[in-house]
Amino acid sequence: ENKVLSDLEIARRAGIKPITEIAERAGINADALELYGPYKAKINPAHLRLPGGKPAGKVVLVSAMSPTPAGEGKSTTTVGLADSLARAGHKVMIALREPSLGPILGMKGGATGGGYSQVLPMDDINLHFTGDFHAITSANNALMALVDNHIYQGNQLGIDPRRMTFKRVLDMNDRSLREIVIGLGGPAQGVPRQDGFDITVASEIMAVFCLSSDLDDLRTRLGRITFGYTYERKPVTVADLGVEGALTLLLKDAIKPNLVQTIAGTPALVHGGPFANIAHGCNSLIATRTAQQLADVVVTEAGFGADLGAEKYMDIKSRIADVAPSAVVIVATIRALKMQGGVPKEELGVPNVEAVAAGVGNLKRHVGNVAKFGISPVVAINKFGTDTPEELDWLLAWCAAEGVQAAVADVWGRGGGGDGGDELAAKVAAAVDAPSNFHHLYPLEMPVEDKIRTIVQEIYGADGVEFSVPALRRLAEIEKNGWGGLPVCMAKTQYSFTDDASQLGAPKGFRVHVRELIPKTGAGFIVALTGAVMTMPGLPKEPAAIRMNVDEDGNPTGLF
Ligand code: ADP
Repeated sequence: ENKVLSDLEIARRAGIKPITEIAERAGINADALELYGPYKAKINPAHLRLPGGKPAGKVVLVSAMSPTPAGEGKSTTTVGLADSLARAGHKVMIALREPSLGPILGMKGGATGGGYSQVLPMDDINLHFTGDFHAITSANNALMALVDNHIYQGNQLGIDPRRMTFKRVLDMNDRSLREIVIGLGGPAQGVPRQDGFDITVASEIMAVFCLSSDLDDLRTRLGRITFGYTYERKPVTVADLGVEGALTLLLKDAIKPNLVQTIAGTPALVHGGPFANIAHGCNSLIATRTAQQLADVVVTEAGFGADLGAEKYMDIKSRIADVAPSAVVIVATIRALKMQGGVPKEELGVPNVEAVAAGVGNLKRHVGNVAKFGISPVVAINKFGTDTPEELDWLLAWCAAEGVQAAVADVWGRGGGGDGGDELAAKVAAAVDAPSNFHHLYPLEMPVEDKIRTIVQEIYGADGVEFSVPALRRLAEIEKNGWGGLPVCMAKTQYSFTDDASQLGAPKGFRVHVRELIPKTGAGFIVALTGAVMTMPGLPKEPAAIRMNVDEDGNPTGLF
C-alpha cells in the first residue's frame, strides 16, 4: 500500500490500549488514577504511592532551530525519541503541552506529533480533551466578572477602568473580539469600559497554572496576579479582591496532569499549554515533576526555537523547581536549513546541498546557545521524504566537524516504536549520562534592563537593545513596585533571531527593540514585547474547519 495515510488515519489504525494498562506499567497506583473514559485519565499527584529512594527522572528537553513554515517536527521528534528510548529499555515518560482549539480550527496541524510518532487519542487531545482549557477559561472569566462587578458595586479598591491589564479569554481564534466595549446599556448594565478578548493560552492564568508546584502554590500565584491599576496608579491584585480561593477551586481538577499514550504505548502526560511568546511555552511543572517521579527519563518540549523555548525553560521554569535538563535535543530539518539558506518554500523539495550549507549558521547559533547553559546539545535531524543522502551526509559531516552529536531520525515515517529513532535515542541516552554543568544565563539580582540585554546579546547575537519611551517608563515602575527580581520572558518572533521575522539565517549587526514591558506578577516574570504580538489570533481565509466532520459512528474526519 503506497497511499500516504493522514495523521488521523494512522492514529485510528493504531491499537490504542486501555489507559489503566498504560498506568499500571508506568507504576501508577489505581487510586491515584481518575478515569476520563477508557483512554484518558488524570493523575492525582497527592495520591501517588511511589517506591521510596527512586531518584528524580532526568529531563531531556526537545527544542529546535528557528521555525519555518516548512515545519521542524519538535512534537513528532519528542514522541518518537521517547518511544525509541523505551524500546532501548529505558523507563520513559513524555511531558507535552495540550493543544489550543483555536488554531486547530484555523490552520492545519495539531500538537500531538505526526506520522507514526503521535500521542493518542489524538482527536480527543486536539479537541476538548479533559476540559482543562475550559476550566482555565472559566477561571479567567470569573475573575473578570468579579472585577467588573466590583467596579459596578461602588469600586472600593478604586480600580481605574482605563488601566486594566487583564482581559477576558476564549479558546478560539476570533479577531472580532480583540477590541470591544462592555457595560453598555445604562446604569443597570455595569460600567462601560474598553475591553477585549485574548485566546485562552495567552491568559496569565494559563502561565500560572503551568508554573505552580501544587494547589497551594497555585492559590498564592493566582492571588499575586496584577489585573490593573488604581486611580493612584497602584497595582491591584487578585488577592486585593479576595477571590484567589474561588479561582483555585475552579482549577482543582484541571491542575491534575492528564495521562495518555503514544502509538507505541509509551506513557505521556499532556498538560497545560501557555503561549511561547508572552508566556514560557511548556507543559505544566506539575506534569514534568510527576513524570520525573514515575520515570527515569522524561522527554519534554519547549515551544518555538531554542532562542525562545529553551531559554525560557532554563531561565524561568528551571528556577522554580529542579527540572533543569540533563540533555537538550535541537531538532533540525534539511528543508528548514534550506529555507534559512534563502530557498523559497516551493523549492524545498529540490536537492540543494549549497542551500543547506548556506542555512546552517542558524543551527550553529542555536547549538552555541545551548552550550551557554552548560549543556552540549544533540542535533536530531528529522528526516523528510525529500531529503537526499548527499544532503543528510553533508549535515552529519558538518555536525561531526563542529564536535556536535547528531543523528538522523525517521520517527515520523517508521515510528519510534520501530527502528527509526534508535541511533538518536542512543546518543541522547549517552548525553543524559554525560556530566553537564547546567547554569542559568543570568542571575535574578541583575536589573531587568540588563537581563534583557544579556538575552539579546548572548542568545540572539544582537549588538544591543533599544527601549521605547513607554518601556523605559515601565522599567522604572517595575523597580519601584519591587518586581525587579523577576526573570524575563521575551516575546519575539520565532522565525528570526532578530525582531524582524523576515531576517533568516544567523543575522549580525542588529539591535532588538523592546516596545513594552508587561509585569506578570502571578506567573512571576516580566514580559518584554519586541514587535507586535498577537494575543488573539484570527482565522485564515480557508480555515481547517471547512474539512472537518464526523461520520455516523461519531468518528472525526478531516482533522489533520
Ligand atoms: P512542531 O512541534 O515543530 O510544531 P510537529 O511535530 O507538530 O512540529 O509537526 C508538524 C507537522 O509536520 C505535522 O503535521 C507532522 O505530521 C509533520 N511532520 C513532522 N515530521 C515530519 C517528517 N519527518 N516527514 C513528514 N512530515 C512531518
